[in-house]
Amino acid sequence: FMQGLERLRDQPAVTTDGFTVSLLTNTGLLADATPGLQRGAEGVGLYRSEIPFMIHDSFPTEQEQYKLYRKVLQAYAPRPVNMRTLDIGGDKQLPYFDISETNPYLGWRGIRFSLDNAQLLISQIRAMLRADMDNGNLRLLVPMISRVDEIQSFRRYVEKAVEALNREGQAVRMPKIGMMIEVPSAMLLLPRLAPYIDFVSIGSNDLTQYLLAVDRNNPRVSSLFDHLHPAVLVALEQIQQQCDTLGLPVSLCGEMASDPAAVLLLIAMGYNCLSLSAYNIPRVKLLIRSLSRQALMSLLEQTRQCSSEAEVRALLAPVLEQVG
Ligand code: PEP
Ligand code: MG
Repeated sequence: FMQGLERLRDQPAVTTDGFTVSLLTNTGLLADATPGLQRGAEGVGLYRSEIPFMIHDSFPTEQEQYKLYRKVLQAYAPRPVNMRTLDIGGDKQLPYFDISETNPYLGWRGIRFSLDNAQLLISQIRAMLRADMDNGNLRLLVPMISRVDEIQSFRRYVEKAVEALNREGQAVRMPKIGMMIEVPSAMLLLPRLAPYIDFVSIGSNDLTQYLLAVDRNNPRVSSLFDHLHPAVLVALEQIQQQCDTLGLPVSLCGEMASDPAAVLLLIAMGYNCLSLSAYNIPRVKLLIRSLSRQALMSLLEQTRQCSSEAEVRALLAPVLEQVG
């Protein structure tokens, strides 16, 4: 089994007609680095920094964060690591900081929480920048952007942190800054957000949740939660095309990247970077290597007529059966 993995690890995720996809991994645990690298992750597409915060018993200090982030960056260097700033709120709670809200998914989440707790955000940015000094593979990612002023403020915090650290004699670099698209307003304002970012990462879990108004963790409506809902597919095509026009690299890092049916359509749309759990990388790589993008594009064309996720899945099922 390990031998098979090793052979596959060194092969690219390329379709039979030459479309290459970068496969990165989602993580929040240092312990994931070994399985990730064994499975050929080309880097970390999403480092969920809230995970170490959630398993701590108080807010970690800048120094504690620095030590941890440095280990993570080192483990993957020289491969890129997209470190996302704190994304608590919603279903992600800290045991030592209660956020009780009637509508947690519409509340104090992600960048909103960080901008309202600036000292915490600054400590996180400083820790990440310092951790990058010996490594040079850090990219910063911001969750839950829904407004232009949020990304403007975030960028200013990063620029100020770089200046402050340089004044303190620490030669940190300005990293690339990326934004998650997981709120519909961010998708609709992409051209206005673009001047402040270097790349885009789609959080398909939240984007699906917010486009469909379906709580991703509520069992009563969970049957309505599907990233193959035609509206989600329209959104994803639009984002890909806009990023193309704007010259913004884009990746997708929600659960969708692990769903073989969804992968067929993402490749057809032109997504060439996916981030997923390390354990799913070999399976998705094998799938990609067995496909022709040209054939998938006519499949995508057909799904444009579908009015439900069930119709979409029915169209894709025979293709998946064929590739086994
Ligand atoms: C997402 O929303 O798809 C995502 C990747 O972020 P998270 O699951 O951490 O909210
Ligand atoms: Mg999200």
